[in-house]
Amino acid sequence: MIEENQMQEQDHEEIEQRRKQLGKAFTDRHAIARRMANVKHKLIVLSGKGGVGKSTVAVNLAASLSHAGKKVGLMDIDVHGPSIPKLTGLENQPLTGTEGAINPIYKSNNLLVMSVGFMMQNPDDPVIWRGPLKFSLIRQFLRDVEWGPLDYLIIDSPPGTGDEPLSVVQLLSDIDGAIVVTTPQELAIDDVRKSISFCRKVNLPILGVIENMSGFVCPHCGKSTEIFKTGGGEKMAMEMGVPFLGRIPIDPNVVQASDMGISYIEHYAKSEAALAFRKVIEPIMRLRERK
Ligand code: ADP
Repeated sequence: MIEENQMQEQDHEEIEQRRKQLGKAFTDRHAIARRMANVKHKLIVLSGKGGVGKSTVAVNLAASLSHAGKKVGLMDIDVHGPSIPKLTGLENQPLTGTEGAINPIYKSNNLLVMSVGFMMQNPDDPVIWRGPLKFSLIRQFLRDVEWGPLDYLIIDSPPGTGDEPLSVVQLLSDIDGAIVVTTPQELAIDDVRKSISFCRKVNLPILGVIENMSGFVCPHCGKSTEIFKTGGGEKMAMEMGVPFLGRIPIDPNVVQASDMGISYIEHYAKSEAALAFRKVIEPIMRLRERK
């Protein structure tokens, strides 16, 4: 009898705990939906593996859209290696905010940035993030960052198909879709297929594939060299039945601009790669608002 009572008590506690969790999940979702009601389009940038230029592409897409007159928020959820503060020249910026509201950092009037990196005292310190902790941080970012009205929110996710993109998909019901970045060589392309399968599994629309580091045009003689080959991303996109958004060539000035935290598309506006970024945003600018 005592045992039965204990079991009933345990069951009751478990149900109560579950009820509270569900209640909280509902309130959070509601709060996120309210915050996001001011954001017309939400995009997530993914890649199959690291080093293909995903963050560089995310920054330059955000900058290109903001140059085209759109108000853009750039959110970096790469908890293991947040590179957006460095790429945007906003390292060591202190975060401000009140209870339940965090202010993004202004890169310009039209480009607002939020990164996990702003929350770390020393970005070189290793941080051990388990799945649930990542989920609650991403939930806090989506719920509490005070973006104000935005045309685009671009989310830079870590490489692969781990907890971070999954958390975003679970928390944002009306995300427009994913932009998948790859380099042209087979090794990278094999990994990107996994990203595309992930999107399909979680019902995340795929806006398209961008092939980065696609050929190198010599600034002296104008001759094009296919360092990592070209066309692999487009071929794979075709095979997998997803749109191809375009190619961004290799340009040493991209590295230079990234290292200095200056805007590549502004400082090298006439370069092939800057032109390519401007072209890649065209289909993104044509996205219809989801109601
Ligand atoms: P990821 O986010 O995929 O790990 P990053 O954006 O950090 O990759 O880029 C990795 C490196 O490649 C950086 O040094 C960056 O400056 C460089 N890079 C990215 N795209 C290009 C490009 N189109 N041309 C030259 N260098 C590039």
